This record gives sequence, structure tokens and C-alpha cells, in this order.
Amino acid sequence: MRLLSCCYLGAPIERQTGALTRAGLLLFFAGIIRRSAVLAAAVVLGTTAGRAETAALPVTEIASGIFVHNGVHEEASAANEDAIANIGFIIGDEAVAVIDPGGSFAEGGALRAAIRARTDQPIRYVILTHVHPDHIFGAAAFRDDHPDFVGHAKLPGALAQRGDYYVRRLHSALGDEASGTEIVVPTVLVSDRLDLDLGHRRLTLRAHGPAHTDNDLTIFDQKTRTLWLADLLFVDRIPVIDGSLVGWLKQLDELTAIPADRAVPGHGPVSVPWPAAAEPERRYLEAVAHDTRAAIRSGIGLATAYRQVANSERGNWLLFDDYHPRNVTASYKELEWE
Ligand SMILES: [Zn+2]
Repeated sequence: MRLLSCCYLGAPIERQTGALTRAGLLLFFAGIIRRSAVLAAAVVLGTTAGRAETAALPVTEIASGIFVHNGVHEEASAANEDAIANIGFIIGDEAVAVIDPGGSFAEGGALRAAIRARTDQPIRYVILTHVHPDHIFGAAAFRDDHPDFVGHAKLPGALAQRGDYYVRRLHSALGDEASGTEIVVPTVLVSDRLDLDLGHRRLTLRAHGPAHTDNDLTIFDQKTRTLWLADLLFVDRIPVIDGSLVGWLKQLDELTAIPADRAVPGHGPVSVPWPAAAEPERRYLEAVAHDTRAAIRSGIGLATAYRQVANSERGNWLLFDDYHPRNVTASYKELEWE
């Protein structure tokens, strides 16, 4: 079901060379230049034809052949290169699948270096779990591998609506660190389910109804029974409702019935027990739904409703005050006409 072609053909090599040269210089001047924990922990792998290879993103092998980088609980900034989400890759006997290429061209390049430090298998798939930039804006770093870029059937529409705005916002947050970051549209779309074979390793991708966004994909690795949930699961960091609160609770009912041995959240630890790790998120979403309905019934307006909704949850989540009011606004608009 190949519905779209990648429209990005220009400038990756020039840009990549620029980024690589910069990476080398930064490491050379490491003593005087501020860098993020990501690059501070990175290692220059070698040089070819006078060109430093990019530094490898730190990753943890959470199950055989499954590697995850742990995003930091911050907003996107030049210091963290938008490396704020959990991203990674799965290695089969014949191919590699990237699951979310990261939040910027720089992070995507560092993820690619982490793959190449472990295997020479071709990178056949770059899976884009949803439209949010912290997950997919590293995609351009993989164009020279000519993978299938796999996304939800509704991802192209979401990118058309928001992509340019997200790119501008990233450039204003990261400055030069955003260079090379561009939108890559999916070349393979999933409207229900899709199996990908990495060589004795089958991944089952599932396209979900509106929940965290309206274009959420999850991935199940049958070999290790690992369920990669991306932003359908937040742990420690407050969930962001950008699709449907009611839909998300419904998806959680279905997802928690999957007998997985572990899950990979989009934000939080790189591996968590399943389905136990979904309980705090479900509790938060149910509290928002319950209290928002009560506020609407009591005639409390949209602007002030957040003050009375799910306040019991404040101490349970990082970045609560940054995202909770907008979660309540989104929920209010959704539930108002029930
Ligand atoms: Zn997200």
C-alpha cells in the first residue's frame, strides 16, 4: 500500500557534511563549548576522507535486538537538540527498523550512528509513530538509506496542516542546532495493520483511532513480545491530549489487553512492565474526563475549568503546569457536546 512518494530529494548530502564537520569541531573544542548530555556522552567513531563521522546516540538494549534512547524530560532546546522523546531501533537478521528517528536532523544522525556501531544491515524502515516533531523530525538523516518511511494513513494530512509551523518553531527553539531538519512525508501508509519482516523477526504495526493524536501507530515485536507504544503511553511526564480523551481511554482498554512482556513509552523509562505501567496514565485521563464533565455540568467556563479539574494529579507528573491547562481545554471542547 504505497500511496505517496517521498518529496524530499534536495540537499541532504551538503547538509549532512555540514553537520558532520560541525560535530567534529564541537568535539575538538569540547572543553569550551556547552553541549547537551546527549553529545557529551557521545563518541567520535572515526574519520573517513577527512570527515568526522557523527557521534552515536546513547541507547539501551531493552530486549534482544531492541535499542532505545531515553529522552530527557524537557522542552525542546538547542542544548538538548529536541532529544526529548524515547526513540530507537530494532535489528532483525536481514534489516533494521527505526522507530522514531528523533526530534531533529542532528538527533537522527546520532541515532543512525548508533545503528551503524552495531550492525551493517540495511535500514529498511523508518517508522514515524505520529506527527509530533520530537519523534519524527530526525527522518531526513535517513534519506540516503532509501528506507520506507512508514506512517499512519492520517499522518500526511497532519503534516500538511502543521508541518511548516512545527519546523519554524523548532528553528526558533534550536537555532543552528535545527539545521538540516525538514519534513519527510511517509512513503508507506498504515490504515489498519501492517506486518514488517526484518528477517526472522516480524513487527506488527497498528494504526489507532484518535487518542494522543489522530495518527498514532504502535509496534509489536513478536519475537520478544515488546509493545512499542510511543506517545500512547506517558510515564512520569504528563500525557498530552492532542487527539481525543475518550478515544485514548478506549485505545488503552484495547492496548492493555495485549499480553506483552514489556512496553516502550514515548516519554519515561525506556522499558516498563505491561500493562501495569498504563495505570497512572489511565488514572489521569479518567480524572480529567470525570472532572471536566462535572465542570461542564456546573456551568464553569472553559477558561477557568482547569483550576478544578484533576488537581489531585498535580504531584504525580513532571511538566504538569505546562500541559495540564491545555489538556483540560482540549477535553472541555471534546466533552462539551456529549
Ligand atoms: Zn507526541
